[in-house]
Amino acid sequence: MDQVSVFTVLLLTALNLGTVSVALPLIMGRGVSRAARLAQASLIAQTLGWVAIIASGFWAGHWLDMAISTVSMACAGASNYLMFLALRAWLGRRVGEKLLIALVILMPLGYALSFSNYSVRVGWANFLLAAQLLLLARATIRHKVDSSRRWRWMLFLCYGAVAGATIGRGILGAFFPESYPHFQSGHPVNMVAQIVANVGQILITVAILVAWREEAEAKLRAQAFTDHLTGLPNRHGWDERARVLFDQAQRHDSPLALIMLDLDHFKRINDTHGHEAGDQVLRMVGRVLQSNRRSSDLAARLGGEEFALLLPQTDMTAAVLFERRLREAFLQAGQEFPQGAVNYSAGLAMLRPSDHSLTELIIRADNGLYQAKALGRGRLELTS
Ligand code: GH3
Ligand code: MG
Ligand code: MG
Repeated sequence: MDQVSVFTVLLLTALNLGTVSVALPLIMGRGVSRAARLAQASLIAQTLGWVAIIASGFWAGHWLDMAISTVSMACAGASNYLMFLALRAWLGRRVGEKLLIALVILMPLGYALSFSNYSVRVGWANFLLAAQLLLLARATIRHKVDSSRRWRWMLFLCYGAVAGATIGRGILGAFFPESYPHFQSGHPVNMVAQIVANVGQILITVAILVAWREEAEAKLRAQAFTDHLTGLPNRHGWDERARVLFDQAQRHDSPLALIMLDLDHFKRINDTHGHEAGDQVLRMVGRVLQSNRRSSDLAARLGGEEFALLLPQTDMTAAVLFERRLREAFLQAGQEFPQGAVNYSAGLAMLRPSDHSLTELIIRADNGLYQAKALGRGRLELTS
């Protein structure tokens, strides 16, 4: 240990972080998400913080020492807040944001004001910094449903460890200043804190990369399950979600209605008004389905001009009433188009206790749709 000074580790920390701050935006490239940009900015602010603390050492006793080390505190706080924002962008709303902002502002302020009193300023800075880190650790728990646990655990442990080491520094500075007269003092607690900060930053960077990859995967997944024209789930999205609703209804023996619908004479719209006009109509259908369904209903575009609606907790009467409202909304919305109102044919089927799979329900609703077409279109046919 004698050969390695705290200053050496401090320099290495700044060097590692500086390298990562430059390399990360380069390897992640342009067009990364807001969350990834915030995490990158957090690392840059963190680097500036370490560089400033090193620089302040060269002006010990000079007013520049106070100025530069206060800037360092501000950079560390800014870095933590940027990371908090990145976590919010990745995981949704996080608790403790206002408290974090208060700590980020108060830390450099109190540090500068108490600069002449070593114990107070070192205790203040380290305890407030530790509190910020604990809020960051807290922000990694509780998450959106589809976020993986591993990178959040890694961040949680890193922030927890760095907070613990920072508290150690705070205790030394506030209560045992004689054994820790300077931030570069070779006290074992200080040495451990510096090493933990160094290793912690490396792992935090790894966690950021994993979070970023997970975000990109989730985006691709969502794209693969969504129809780009209407924004509704496509057949893949339908397959995945419809099965869940089907299983739930079967398990709880609750009613489930399926409506299959197909636009009438849609080919004519394409032929007379062009493909773009047809696309506009399809987009309108997507909007009408989205705005008329309940949040628990599933509306999907199965292909071409064919759509499906799965309505949980809905009996036959309610489904028929729903379909009536839907048709009115359709005809209303279609008035805005030069080709006039757009109508559709539909088939309705209800889940039966004897149904073994969703396919049986779909076949019955499809039969209803076929009958509706055969009976002159623009109507709903129920299948028994
Ligand atoms: P029917 O009343 O019997 O359902 O007649 P239809 O013309 O609606 O049905 P048909 O299956 O003959 O034609 C469907 C048309 O839908 C043919 C195809 O070009 C068009 N179509 C499928 N997907 C798209 C799309 O994404 N955009 C546009 N504009 N048209 C599409
Ligand atoms: Mg059609
Ligand atoms: Mg069709």
